[in-house]
Amino acid sequence: MKIIMPKPKAGGLLVSYSCNAKCKHCYLNCGGKKSGKMDIADAKRHLQSFKEEGIPKEEVHITGGEPFIDLDYLVSILDVAQEAGYSGFGFVETNAFWATNQEKCKRILETIKKRGVEKLCISSDIFHQEFIPLSNVKRLVENCYEVIGPNSIMLRWQGGLDLKKHIGEMTETEIKEYILNPNREFRTRIVGRGTKTLADFLPRQKAENFKDSPCFEKMVGSGHYHFDLHNDLIPGIGCIILGNASNRTLRELLNNVSEENNPMFEMLSKEGPAGRFLAQANTKGYRELEKGYCDKCHLCFDIKKHIVSLGNSTKEIGPKEAYV
Ligand code: SF4
Ligand code: SF4
Repeated sequence: MKIIMPKPKAGGLLVSYSCNAKCKHCYLNCGGKKSGKMDIADAKRHLQSFKEEGIPKEEVHITGGEPFIDLDYLVSILDVAQEAGYSGFGFVETNAFWATNQEKCKRILETIKKRGVEKLCISSDIFHQEFIPLSNVKRLVENCYEVIGPNSIMLRWQGGLDLKKHIGEMTETEIKEYILNPNREFRTRIVGRGTKTLADFLPRQKAENFKDSPCFEKMVGSGHYHFDLHNDLIPGIGCIILGNASNRTLRELLNNVSEENNPMFEMLSKEGPAGRFLAQANTKGYRELEKGYCDKCHLCFDIKKHIVSLGNSTKEIGPKEAYV
């Protein structure tokens, strides 16, 4: 049976899993030796797909990994936006590693402004600042206002500018308090690298506590779709792959989502990971963690990792870079 997917409102190109950092919470496990970039012709096709869906320029963005690792490549991606019918990109995400001095900031910002970039989305929190000096973030913010304009910054997160310590300088108690603080600007889901680096700081629960917790809204409710360098369609917060766009458009892929074609998506979207998804994994040798799980995403990721480890991984689990 067909599954009706939300109309696309935002589109991102996940151009690479390479990163200069190895943030402890990185849900895609970016950095280290990961390499590979989206093909420029594929980028153009995906942008055309976004255009056909009526996604406005301000919601079209480039993410990674760290898109500024290879500036010439980034410029090539920015240039194909015009050919796809956009006057540029709404925003590009970055961790500000390259903002080491004012002259360099201005030069790079002028380069991307000329190609129609309206904003930078700059990461700043206890995780990123373990790898990037906070002074880079502040320098980039100031220069971006000057070169691109007064509304040219999205900070993730505002509180990052007031950081006193990054995670590498915090005690176990401080890390626990930070992550569990209900008033924090964002929630940290324990997936990707966080399952190895953060899970032991946090309280755990049994898998059964996450029963009947549908994920449809979290997975696709925002209408936010990414294509990655393998041409996989990864919606929203990166839970699953909906299809591959090597020979298809976004519309064709969305029209093709069904219970038959996307069995994991069907289970997770209706029940979350502790229903049929867990039961089926148990029949394939999955053993629940004795310590339990920090959150339902931790359970979900652990099951997917088990399925990947069996070697007959399904096309719905990915990107593969997140599971190594
Ligand atoms: S969270 Fe961002 S900056 Fe950190 S390792 Fe992942 S991609 Fe790189
Ligand atoms: S439990 Fe799984 S499907 Fe649900 S939001 Fe978390 S990662 Fe996504």
